[in-house]
Amino acid sequence: MSAIPLPSAAPPSSASIRPPLAGQVPVANAIDALAQPATLYRSLPDHAVMCTACAHRCRIKPRARGICQVRFNVGGVLYAPWGYAAAIHADPVEKKPFYHVLPGSVALTFGMLGCNLHCDYCQNWDISQTLRDAAAGAPPTQVTPAQMVAVAHRLGARSLVSSYNEPLITSEWAVDLFRAAKEAGLMCLYVSNGYATSEVLEYLRPWLNGYKIDLKSMRDKAYRQLGATLQHVLDGIRLVYQMGFWLELVTLVVPGFNDSTEELRDAAQFIRSLSPDIPWHVTAFHPDYRMTDRDHTDARALMRAAEIGYEEGLRYVYAGNVPGCLGRFENTYCPRCSAVLIERIGFRVLSNRLKADGLCPACGTRIAGLWQAPSRP
Ligand code: SF4
Repeated sequence: MSAIPLPSAAPPSSASIRPPLAGQVPVANAIDALAQPATLYRSLPDHAVMCTACAHRCRIKPRARGICQVRFNVGGVLYAPWGYAAAIHADPVEKKPFYHVLPGSVALTFGMLGCNLHCDYCQNWDISQTLRDAAAGAPPTQVTPAQMVAVAHRLGARSLVSSYNEPLITSEWAVDLFRAAKEAGLMCLYVSNGYATSEVLEYLRPWLNGYKIDLKSMRDKAYRQLGATLQHVLDGIRLVYQMGFWLELVTLVVPGFNDSTEELRDAAQFIRSLSPDIPWHVTAFHPDYRMTDRDHTDARALMRAAEIGYEEGLRYVYAGNVPGCLGRFENTYCPRCSAVLIERIGFRVLSNRLKADGLCPACGTRIAGLWQAPSRP
């Protein structure tokens, strides 16, 4: 999918020039100049701040950055990225993957620069690790919320999605975009690692409809390799569910990292403990970035992982990233009468028999999901 050309560029920002910060890399100059005072932080003594946009809760001294490298303190004010995108694509919503949100629709998806984690197998490392890795880098393009919505309309998108890098770290900008998107009748979605705080979720709640989270492992040791802790991820997932966002979970099944039967069963049991209606996607790894020492996940291993999900009582389990080789695990079935509701190959919807209100046409069971566009405010 090629990048979407934007309407004419926005005029240069009038943001004041930031003082040089620790660890500055060239692209940081461009995005720092667009940054705006953040909302998600608390003031601390001596002009330090505590950022509340993600579970790291960085304490940031003046002239320093948080772990994500894109939020920084100038004189006791936290600045956050604003007014640009590093990638914009029109994707099927199934690619996010959301399988229970407006099936077969176009999702206008944007990415920013930076991340609060540093996964060795990141598939979007060129934008997520830009601020840490000199080999990475995508030039930012200035954009306004009105321009983004205009592009979404031009391409027939029904949702606007923050993805590719970690959206939590740019939540203020996402909310400005989502405000315009919601006004235009678009669904608003996050594709995130789930390293959330109650503060950021409260902030997002009026604007965000659906939340996809990567549950990367059920072992704290593995999460620490990626720069996070398991407990914070599980807490984030639980909060997202309890606060009423539509939630889908994904586990990229990485050979030798998280693919033991015990660990997959732990993941399924955790999800089941929240709700059997949360869709769980188990998807195939391919060697990327700094993890090139192992093979792709094969289709058989994925189908076994999906079977574990069903054995543990989940109602909607999907295998992905090996289109056409995953049998029944690409489709949605009614959990009551087993009727085939949505048939897919990869990101393509072949048929959708679900009624517009999300009812099974055979037995009338309500299928969990967001099946209709939200009403305009
Ligand atoms: S978003 Fe997370 S990593 Fe970035 S500064 Fe805030 S707490 Fe730290």
